[in-house]
Amino acid sequence: MQSLDHNIRFFNTLTRKKEKFIPIEQGKVKMYTCGLTVWDYGHIGNFRTFMFEDLLRRWLEFRGFEVTQIMNITDVDDRTVAASRKTGILLKDCTKPYIDAFFEDLVTLNIEKAEHYPRATAHVPEMVALIEKLMQKGYAYVSEDKSIYYDISKFTDYGKLSKFKIEDLQAGARVKVDDYEKAEARDFALWKAWAPEDGDVYWETPIGKGRPGWHIECSAMSIKYLGETFDIHTGGVDNMFPHHENEIAQSEAATGKKFVNYWLHSEHLLVEGKRMGKRFGNYYTVRDLTKLGHAPEAIRYLLLSTHYRQQFNFTFDGLQAAKNAIERLRNFAYRLKDANSAGNSPELKALMDRVKKEFGDAMDDDLNINAALAWLFEFVREANNLLDANKVSKAAAEELYSLMMKFDKLLGVIGEVGEEQKLPKEAEELIRKREEARKAKNWKAADEIRQQLRAMGIIIEDTPQGLKWRSEKN
Ligand SMILES: [Zn+2]
Repeated sequence: MQSLDHNIRFFNTLTRKKEKFIPIEQGKVKMYTCGLTVWDYGHIGNFRTFMFEDLLRRWLEFRGFEVTQIMNITDVDDRTVAASRKTGILLKDCTKPYIDAFFEDLVTLNIEKAEHYPRATAHVPEMVALIEKLMQKGYAYVSEDKSIYYDISKFTDYGKLSKFKIEDLQAGARVKVDDYEKAEARDFALWKAWAPEDGDVYWETPIGKGRPGWHIECSAMSIKYLGETFDIHTGGVDNMFPHHENEIAQSEAATGKKFVNYWLHSEHLLVEGKRMGKRFGNYYTVRDLTKLGHAPEAIRYLLLSTHYRQQFNFTFDGLQAAKNAIERLRNFAYRLKDANSAGNSPELKALMDRVKKEFGDAMDDDLNINAALAWLFEFVREANNLLDANKVSKAAAEELYSLMMKFDKLLGVIGEVGEEQKLPKEAEELIRKREEARKAKNWKAADEIRQQLRAMGIIIEDTPQGLKWRSEKN
């Protein structure tokens, strides 16, 4: 598909409107996504955002765009420094296991790789240069303790992303911590002069001994890799203020240009209807869930299947439903591999045309995955009916299969379904017993055997063509 005639629209936080997506350079997209702060393992709330960004990236690619995505790693900020001090482990050794784990989790969840993962600690000179520029232009000043602050009263657009009224701002008041509430909007730290609690975390630079503030990191790294103006910046809604607001203030004051054209933010995650938190006992990382035996595809599917601007409620029932949904898609793919009817239904083509159009229209509409998935399952249901009625030829089934694989390039949960393997002996015996039970109309026994097979990782299905089975792993 060509990117020229696409009709993708995104809800832009900057304007609070859905807008047609027009990239700066035709056919190409440059996007920046705030990555993980590596003081701990990423939790499912973090990964909800990363999954939304993966879906965004994959959809743009589906529509033919070439995407350059930068995801930074925050390996120096208040939290990482505090973690390093608390454990007495050097900052770089303290963050390393979490960086490694983050990349493992990306693989686990089949998240497409970004083009670059710049680390804050490797870009301090760029941050210093940016701060120097802000000082030259009169947007920054040095405080008594030699820290450098951004003067928000100088930037008349301050608050344009999070919609502040200028009279709500406390000009001249300062905040040194990286993260703070909207009510505390004030001059924020670009550079934090070394203090004893920083221990051995500091850089000797032309602007003094110290470390960068969190916000300047993302301005410096995004400009370095994507240029002074780029297409899309994403993140969780909790990053909108102060982080993204401050990124705009820093970048636009320094360059005199618009920083980002489209800001996209994903909503919060709840767990079983409640706020997630370690102290509430409902805090999960990706690895917590896989350790509990949940399939990575099910976690992936669950995290991506709610529209990104809706609050997402993570539940274990939802995880089971995700597993079932994937099983339906895989079963369908397996049936297509086997289909070989003499006749062919004229309805098939119309069915395929419809799902292509409706699925595409839904995704173009600000990534409306809920609607897109509803169309996909409707399609699977109707195509299954045609399979039941022996109305799908081998050639048609191949076409259907490749369409499913195309959708799966976006969803990333089906995978190529392989050739069927041989059943283990004991499974063959169980299936024979189940057939006997069914003949005797002993449904309870038949169902128990199905569960036994399931426990062995073998899934069976009764179809009009007889019993089908497959291994859960495939
Ligand atoms: Zn950031």
